[in-house]
Parts: sequence; structure tokens; C-alpha cells
Amino acid sequence: MIAQGFEYTAPKTLDEALGLMADGAKPLAGGQSLIPMMKLRLATPERLVDLGRLRDLNYIREQGGNLYIGATTTHYEVESAPLVRSKCPLLSATAACIGDVQVRNMGTIGGSVAHADPAADYPAALQALEARIVLKGAKSERTVSAADFFVDTFTTALEPGEIVREIVVPVDASGVSYQKSYQPASGFAVVGIAVRIAKSGGQISLVRIGVTGLSNCSYRATAAEEALEGKAGSASDVRAAAALVPQGVHANSDLHASADYRRHLATVYAERALAAALAEA
Ligand SMILES: Cc1cc2nc3c(=O)[nH]c(=O)nc-3n(C[C@H](O)[C@H](O)[C@H](O)COP(=O)(O)OP(=O)(O)OC[C@H]3O[C@@H](n4cnc5c(N)ncnc54)[C@H](O)[C@@H]3O)c2cc1C
Repeated sequence: MIAQGFEYTAPKTLDEALGLMADGAKPLAGGQSLIPMMKLRLATPERLVDLGRLRDLNYIREQGGNLYIGATTTHYEVESAPLVRSKCPLLSATAACIGDVQVRNMGTIGGSVAHADPAADYPAALQALEARIVLKGAKSERTVSAADFFVDTFTTALEPGEIVREIVVPVDASGVSYQKSYQPASGFAVVGIAVRIAKSGGQISLVRIGVTGLSNCSYRATAAEEALEGKAGSASDVRAAAALVPQGVHANSDLHASADYRRHLATVYAERALAAALAEA
């Protein structure tokens, strides 16, 4: 199908883009989710503001123990940047799992988190990394945690007129792993589990588990984290913790997987991700 007609603007500055958005225009980044939705007439914006050409939103910087990633940084840039690979390998490994090479060349981290598809990959890693998301409107800027940003299916903490400006993740020396069950046609996560683990004196001193695909939006599996903290991380510790990952959340059911199957996948992939991260910790 062909999208409904729309007005297209490619502003030169972020202020200009935010001014157009304050007037009701919708941001366009890599177009990998928005354009298909427009072609299917699931979205019918009358005016689009192209953020993809704003150079000052495309960067990866390190400062004070964090990486700062501009919203229009593509999935391929996150996957391949030596800084992300060496300082936050969980994020680069997650980016490498997104869709196919065309999608990764065009799609952006800001577009992915703003879109908040319940099967998107980044949210699992951003939950496990306790990332912060910087939101900017015409007159103000604020920072929210990943835990507060992802609210529901395709629903985030973004207010009208705000954009995702930047993602902030910690430089991370823990053992990490992202394991996902792929939806075979698109590559989206039927379930995806991101884990980071640190050990001290033979015991797990930190464990963070981010989950995507299972429920309406991504979340931290805190019951499983609490079950593992202080343990040695034996195979039985890991199995018992993985069984807690789907606990307390509503599991989605659709043509790709029933709720019961998704819960089963969550425990299996959590066990794999925990074992792989522990082997590195
Ligand atoms: C064939 C195919 C396979 C895919 N497979 C996967 C996969 O396996 N895993 C996965 O995670 N994703 C997958 N995707 C989705 C892909 O990652 C998209 O790139 C991403 O969801 C949207 O990013 P974008 O830059 O393309 O945003 P766009 O499509 O341009 O925009 C998406 C939405 O976000 C808004 N938006 C964009 N940028 C901003 C911003 N900075 N601030 C506020 N709002 C903004 C737009 O208004 C729109 O509502 C796939 C897509 C396709 C087409």
C-alpha cells in the first residue's frame, strides 16, 4: 500500500525540529517502523520532521564512566563502534541481533526506544544496564530511567513535543549475554533476555536481568535477581532463578507464541543468558 500524503521537512537544527514538533509534526528517524506503519495506514501523520539528518544527534561518546549515545545513531553504528564493543558489549551484542543488515543500517536507537515495540531488542539491554534516557522538548530537558521510560505496548514516558535525545549507559565490566528466540520472518524477539553479572569472592555481587517480548513492555526480573544475589551461581542456582523470570507479569499470546510457550521460552533463554554471562564474570 502507499502511505497517505504528508508534508516533509528536514530541519538543519534540533531547535528547528523541536519547534516543528511543538506545532504537531511527527519525528521520522530511520523510518524502519514508521514508514511500514504509514504504508499500512496504521499511522497517518500529516507532517513529518526528519531527525535523521541532524548531525548533532549522531554520536557515541565516553565520559565519567558512561557512554552517551545520540538518538540517531544507527543500530549498525552501535553494533560496530569499537567504544561500545569494548566498554558496553551487552549493547553492541544486542544491536547485532536486530532485524537484518538493511534495518540495522537505517534504524536508530532513538527510534527503536521511542517506538517501544514489545518485541524490540534494545529494551531488554537498557533495562539490564539501568540505562537513562534523555528527553528533550522545545523548552526543557529531563532524564528518565529505562524502568520508568517503557510504560506499555508502544507507550513510553515521552510527552507530546518531546524527542529522545540521548541514551546513557554505564561502562560495564561485568559478564554479559543477550539471548533471544527469533521470530523467523522479521527477526524480532519472541522473547529476549539480557543479563549482566559481576562476582566477588566467589559470590554473585550484582545481577541484572532485562526481559523483552514476554509481556506488554520490557521489565527487570527482580525476583530472579534477588534469588541469585549472594549465590555461587551453580547450575541449580541458575535454573531456580530462571524459573522466576516470568513471575508476576502478564504474558502475551499471539500468532507467534501462546502465553504458556512464551513463559517457557523466558525460562529457557534466561538460563542460557545467565550461564553465558556467568562464564564471563
Ligand atoms: C524487516 C524489519 C525487521 C525488524 N527487526 C527488528 C528486530 O529484530 N528487533 C528490533 O528491535 N527491531 C526490529 N525492527 C524495527 C527496527 O529496529 C526499527 O529501526 C526501530 O523500531 C525504529 O527505529 P527507526 O529509527 O527506524 O524509527 P522510525 O521508524 O523513523 O520511527 C519509529 C517511531 O519513533 C518515533 N521517533 C523516531 N525517532 C524518535 C526520537 N528520537 N524521539 C522521539 N520519537 C522518535 C517516530 O515518530 C515513530 O513513531 C525491524 C524492522 C523491520 C522493517
